[in-house]
Amino acid sequence: MQKPRQIRVLPDHVINKIAAGEVVERPAAVLKELLENALDAGGRRIDVIINGGGRDLVSVSDDGCGLGRDEVLLAVERHATSKITDLDDIEKINTLGFRGEALAAIAAVSRFRLYSRPAAEQAGTEMTISAGKIQDLRDLGCPPGTTVEVRNLFFNVPARRKFLRTPATESGHIRHTFLTTALARPETGFNLTMDRRRIYSLPAGDTLEQRLRSLFPGLDYTNLRPLDLERQGVSVSGYASLPALNRADRSEQYFFINGRPAAAPTLWACVQAAYRGSLPAGRHPYLFLFIVLNPGAVDVNVHPTKREVRFHDPRLLRDVCTEALGRALAQPGPARAADPTPSTPATTHPPAAASLPALDHFLRAMSTPPPVRSARPLSTPLSAIGGAHPCPGRPPEPSGAAGTPWNWYQILGTIGGRFVVLETDEGLALLDPHAAHERVLYESLLRQYRERTTAAQPLLSPITVELTPTDAGRLRRGLEALRQMGFGLDEFGEDAFIIDALPVGLEDSNPGTLVREIAALLDEPGAARATLEEGVVRAACHAAVKATHSLPTQQIDALLKQLLAAEMPYTCPHGRPTLINITLQELNRKFGRD
Ligand code: ADP
Ligand code: MG
Repeated sequence: MQKPRQIRVLPDHVINKIAAGEVVERPAAVLKELLENALDAGGRRIDVIINGGGRDLVSVSDDGCGLGRDEVLLAVERHATSKITDLDDIEKINTLGFRGEALAAIAAVSRFRLYSRPAAEQAGTEMTISAGKIQDLRDLGCPPGTTVEVRNLFFNVPARRKFLRTPATESGHIRHTFLTTALARPETGFNLTMDRRRIYSLPAGDTLEQRLRSLFPGLDYTNLRPLDLERQGVSVSGYASLPALNRADRSEQYFFINGRPAAAPTLWACVQAAYRGSLPAGRHPYLFLFIVLNPGAVDVNVHPTKREVRFHDPRLLRDVCTEALGRALAQPGPARAADPTPSTPATTHPPAAASLPALDHFLRAMSTPPPVRSARPLSTPLSAIGGAHPCPGRPPEPSGAAGTPWNWYQILGTIGGRFVVLETDEGLALLDPHAAHERVLYESLLRQYRERTTAAQPLLSPITVELTPTDAGRLRRGLEALRQMGFGLDEFGEDAFIIDALPVGLEDSNPGTLVREIAALLDEPGAARATLEEGVVRAACHAAVKATHSLPTQQIDALLKQLLAAEMPYTCPHGRPTLINITLQELNRKFGRD
């Protein structure tokens, strides 16, 4: 029989190693904790140095209050904090940290060095810790303030180290953390150096506009509107984009609650309400919202990394936000930029860009239609499809049934400005031309890409696009695949890209809009290569296909035939149906005529 196991209280170094998992999951989380400490210490200038995506080094220096010798020792004790003394203090917390576990946790899983000096003291103190064990403590001459260096994160926890992603991916997270923190505190100066390259030098004493311009040089400031509203102790300020400046995801919506970057799904609904009717479905504005409210009205203690906050009165907050957004959006159209001398030429990306490729051009460009592979009929036998499809260069027969699952059909018209209604020998069919176009374009690009037959169309003059750091990271990861698809794309400075060619079939697109859209639609990396390539193609067609309403019958007909020649004709690349068939039997049944 097995001996009963003894219950033991775990030694501190084990507890710290376990706790480390909660607080620091990756180098960016270390950076976040160190930045918060530097800000809480009243730093006016903060220097960040990162090597190897933070796996090799995360270093943060500040010119804040500094720590005396005894405090240095205490700082790395678990639950040692200078920020609260009692449970009640949590209710009115106005510092970023308060749990007193970050430094202990980080020091437990790295080679850690801290040196610090309060301005009033002559000498500073240096402490080194390896895997949670203090190695050395001594006097050191150093400037006032504190520096914390974290090397070889997780070197003593191989299981966790294994889960770190490539330096490029970790760098992306690091930059995001830096950016949100620097945005939250325009009055503080920040430098970021990565692998010996200076990425940002942000002066102290910036206004929010100045900070935004330094961090997002490519943003179209003529389409941003300031917000400023206070109601019942809740204030909302910052910037929101006019509907004309929008994107496919929420990744450029920044919320700061009492100076703390926070995820605020509670606020999504009021953002949606404020933009209702002015943004197409699935599009999102750019937002930089600073919410300040009584610290007692928000609960930051929900999660150790403090990203999610809970509001005691979410209704009030939502009301104030909705009103603030409503007022901001009611301001007149593109007029004033936040600053009369923009650092980079502003670029606009129209909401439903009319300049995107006309379907008819696309159809013309598809001069060699793909062979019919497995265009399955909806309810007719395969033989009914036949091998026929539109001949290159010859206009399609207006209502010929060749290449379709029906023996004959005719296009009756459009309903809802969107769906095409067809009468067929079997009953009724409904076509979504947008989804159909997406499917056709998707397969064509994917085929060109896989068969290495991509044709590129050079642009008359190359253009540059400036992306947000997140988008730039995504695009960089998809760069290889995009080039193989016929995009002439190169990095051009930190987060800018130069475009000098587009794949055939997309050459009528606005290149800047297209590349922005693709970047925004590309998801996190890590997926298999094939999926990344598919993702790029999918994003490209999503971005390229726009207005398909009010197409002449001939074009609908040509599109229909292209669609039915596709490998998977009945869904768009996102899985939505392209064609819905309603048979006469179904109609008879519905009308009770069986
Ligand atoms: P918390 O921030 O939750 O209090 P930490 O483990 O991050 O816990 O830090 C512990 C303590 O160390 C802080 O309360 C603070 O007194 C001190 N400290 C940490 N970093 C700094 C810094 N950069 N400057 C001054 N004091 C610091
Ligand atoms: Mg802290």
